[in-house]
Amino acid sequence: MAPSCTDGVNALAGSCVFCEIVEGRRKAAILHEDSEVLAFRDILPQAPTHILIVPKTHFRSASAVTDPAVWGKLMAVAGRLVSELGLEEEGYRLVVNNGPQAGQTIPHLHVHLLAGRAFRWPPG
Ligand code: AMP
Ligand code: ZN
Repeated sequence: MAPSCTDGVNALAGSCVFCEIVEGRRKAAILHEDSEVLAFRDILPQAPTHILIVPKTHFRSASAVTDPAVWGKLMAVAGRLVSELGLEEEGYRLVVNNGPQAGQTIPHLHVHLLAGRAFRWPPG
């Protein structure tokens, strides 16, 4: 059985769907890559633009992040994509589902960047 990923350990140390994408073992439509962050299109898009922004290091959820710099790097990439894709004017939504009640299905920290349609508030 593949070893499970450990929070804060380089993706190469373990295995999960997003670690597999980070490691190049699973295909994804990648829009941004640097030494610490990867952004790729969601496989089941919930809006015309639906991108996932993930740290290359595995964290099981937002709660597992202790270094605020991780958030800075994810948000910097989000901002860059918003700018590159010209989403400022129409608007966009950034979402982090955390734990079962929030509907988190992949236990590897990710920020959803959604745009291209009107979103309701409060969220369902
Ligand atoms: P969450 O429900 O917040 O954990 O979000 C997980 C997201 O990952 C969902 O929107 C899925 O559609 C998406 N997803 C699952 N597997 C893949 C994959 N192999 N490539 C891209 N997106 C995926
Ligand atoms: Zn992972």
